[in-house]
Amino acid sequence: MANDFNSHTFYNKLKEDRQLVGVKCTACGHLSPEPRPMCPECHGFDMEWHQFSGKATLSTFTCISVVPVLMAEKGYGRDNPYCSGIVTLEEGPRISARINGVDGNNPQSIKTGMDVILDFDDLDIEFPSLAFKPA
Ligand SMILES: [Zn+2]
Repeated sequence: MANDFNSHTFYNKLKEDRQLVGVKCTACGHLSPEPRPMCPECHGFDMEWHQFSGKATLSTFTCISVVPVLMAEKGYGRDNPYCSGIVTLEEGPRISARINGVDGNNPQSIKTGMDVILDFDDLDIEFPSLAFKPA
């Protein structure tokens, strides 16, 4: 098979092609934001890449002030919390991601349901994580 349904290919597509992709089961149509070779619904192996628009809405979030080292290196910490959340892609699947461009010190200013888009400029390929920002 030409495509490997794994996170390496997933992040290559993100970084090189600036495409957010998931996999779609050609048997039952189930869409998964996680690259995986087997359909979680029907357990079929007939998967194909599916390109997402990168548009989403914020479903839930939390602001984190006790941060891992990698985030501390980015300037986050007790005085500058970062936000992490679950976004719902416009295609339906939910995905966990960091939320950029919001005030972690002022969580009440962050609204669930707001439109967000994938932030291609903040991809940690070594420590893969996705980030979204207000649309
Ligand atoms: Zn399926």
